[in-house]
Amino acid sequence: RRAEGPEERRLLELFSYGLMALGAASALLLCFIPMPYGRYSSRRFGWLLPARPAWALQELPSLLVPLGLAACGGAVAAARPNRVLLGCFLLHYAHRALIFPLLIREGKPTPFFTFVLALLFCVFNGYLQGRSLTTYATYPPGWLADSRFITGLLGWLIGMAINIHSDHILRNLRKPGETGYKIPRGGMFEYVSGANFFGEILEWFGFALACCTIESFAFALCTLFILGSRARQHHKWYLKKFEDYPKDRKIVIPFLY
Ligand code: NDP
Repeated sequence: RRAEGPEERRLLELFSYGLMALGAASALLLCFIPMPYGRYSSRRFGWLLPARPAWALQELPSLLVPLGLAACGGAVAAARPNRVLLGCFLLHYAHRALIFPLLIREGKPTPFFTFVLALLFCVFNGYLQGRSLTTYATYPPGWLADSRFITGLLGWLIGMAINIHSDHILRNLRKPGETGYKIPRGGMFEYVSGANFFGEILEWFGFALACCTIESFAFALCTLFILGSRARQHHKWYLKKFEDYPKDRKIVIPFLY
């Protein structure tokens, strides 16, 4: 609480521009090196950690840091829009850190380097979104009925549903004990190779519209850069691996890209 004030406000803005730059730089780098986890996992990036605990531990800070900030209070932490928006963020990360890892089937191990990067990202972004929503984001009366809030919240909800449904489709491609890959079918996979990533991108752009903060917009943009690159790598990989891969399937944005 001590740092609260215009200086910290400015710092959060700088962090947001940093996050956007990080996303853009990662997208550039990922044109040359696939993000090293899952099917591109490699010992070159450090010891291999089992997928389930790695996912749970690396994502947990995005749940705990904002929860801690909310528990400490903050100038706007008790306002209704702030509580709803922080609740959306926490719900996503409660699922990602506590439920998603338990559902993984025969997932490939995560290299230590990737684990540390994801962990640092979750600490940083948990602080950025948590601090913004508990201390600085102010909304006019009636914001919960504003079209930006309602459209954004709907986008967030639909995106999360698509993300969870698509991850469910992927998981069920494997029978117990299988570790190989198959062509995903059904749901949004009929339109794009990265249906789970499309859901997550929609989710965070919806969240950004509902929040109308530079911090949430930076996170959405960074997600677009990173998951858009991963979807492109998967798309290319599928086209190479499966001769009968659907040729009309786009990469990550239905009908467009
Ligand atoms: P992937 O689509 O690469 O893999 C998801 C799971 O499904 C893995 O267990 C994978 O196994 C399995 N799988 C994927 N494709 C197939 C297939 N064709 N056949 C059989 N099994 C398959 O997703 P990620 O692991 O990259 O991401 C998981 C979740 O985390 C997603 O919901 C994503 O949106 C989210 N995420 C969010 C990020 C953000 O910046 N906000 C960053 C990264 C992820 P295996 O491990 O063996 O490949």
